[in-house]
Amino acid sequence: MTTPAKSSQVSAADAASVRQARVAAVLAGAFATPAALAAALAGPLAGLGMAFLVLRAVAALLLSSPAPVLEGTGPASRHAVRQNCLRRAAYAIAAAERISRALAAARAAGQPEAEALARALAAEKTWFAQHIAAAQHRTDAAAAVDGAAQMHGNLLGWNAVLDSRTTPDCRAANGSNFYADRPPLIGYPGTVHAKCRCWPSAAFPGAKVLRSAAAAPRTARL
Ligand SMILES: [Zn+2]
Repeated sequence: MTTPAKSSQVSAADAASVRQARVAAVLAGAFATPAALAAALAGPLAGLGMAFLVLRAVAALLLSSPAPVLEGTGPASRHAVRQNCLRRAAYAIAAAERISRALAAARAAGQPEAEALARALAAEKTWFAQHIAAAQHRTDAAAAVDGAAQMHGNLLGWNAVLDSRTTPDCRAANGSNFYADRPPLIGYPGTVHAKCRCWPSAAFPGAKVLRSAAAAPRTARL
């Protein structure tokens, strides 16, 4: 891969993460109607050329199941709240892009847009339900980490269910330790992937500590 291609990829990724953060900030607000939320989303999504109709449809979907207002009782829960905000923003952007594409395809094929919109929204209801289930799963897993930290202290042990369905990441983390207030790079136990069955326990004496984004410079100094 050449350097210019790489740097343009990085700046595209930067733009996407800025957009995601701006959408997350919008979604943290309270909106009485889909039109009001759609109007607020129009700014951060301006560069994507989306019709107001699409933004309003996504806004209606989001308002049908508002994000729970959670403060987070410990560091892992606070991290989960931030993660869930960002994931909700990512979902909103992806949904708007999918609906836009469906409408463009209908237009190109000379089909009625209203029917294409209805079909796209029916599909989105399934994706959105999965998004909400994943957010709840992150919240529950984080509460388990905070609960374990209250019982055992900040350094905790990582346990994986070992069978044919265990993923390499979870298998590798099994028997390691992690800090409740420093999310490991792979996430907290229970959140590595959609069906992660890992759980926290008391730390394993002498076990290695999983790398976390926050701890990377510290690790390098050792
Ligand atoms: Zn796992």
